[in-house]
Amino acid sequence: MDTRLERYRSSSDADLASELLGRIIEEFDPESEHMKGTALRYVEMLKELTTPGEVDLTVFNNKPKVDEMIVVSPISFHSLCAHHIIPFFGTAHVAYVPGSKLIGLSKIPRLVRETAKGLHVQEVLTWSIAHLLDEALEDPIGVAVVMKAEHMCMSMRGVRADEARTITSTMQGCFLDPKKHARQEFLMLVNGA
Ligand SMILES: [Zn+2]
Repeated sequence: MDTRLERYRSSSDADLASELLGRIIEEFDPESEHMKGTALRYVEMLKELTTPGEVDLTVFNNKPKVDEMIVVSPISFHSLCAHHIIPFFGTAHVAYVPGSKLIGLSKIPRLVRETAKGLHVQEVLTWSIAHLLDEALEDPIGVAVVMKAEHMCMSMRGVRADEARTITSTMQGCFLDPKKHARQEFLMLVNGA
């Protein structure tokens, strides 16, 4: 076992991360004009990428009553993998069938992009977006979210599966029922996107 790796394993997470960042910069050319300030820029960038903005999920009364599926797709998003702090990115596809409320359409991409900021596991992120939308809509007939993403931790390192895309979904209400047309229609739209 590499003794340096062994020492890293016994450090606290915070010490480990800052020591390793310093070492990586030292091993390259810390005096070059490009790398002076890199550590600070990196820290500021991470802070920006992990600070979600406010999302105002304005809803309206569903009158006259819309009872068809509403789909916003594809929505590009970027996030950071909670296991490796390296990007995963791709598209989200969001649908709902309203109950008593409709949501402003532009709120859906904003919800996806702001929720994706931070350190996430794609499966949980997908569920979180569906859950937040469900909560804002109060009593929707159904909510569905599908996310397709490339994970740089799988493309750049490890298995080097750069063709692989991870697809996760959360279906609620009428989208859970395979016999209901909403689910089939939504999945057809997602597969064509
Ligand atoms: Zn990862």
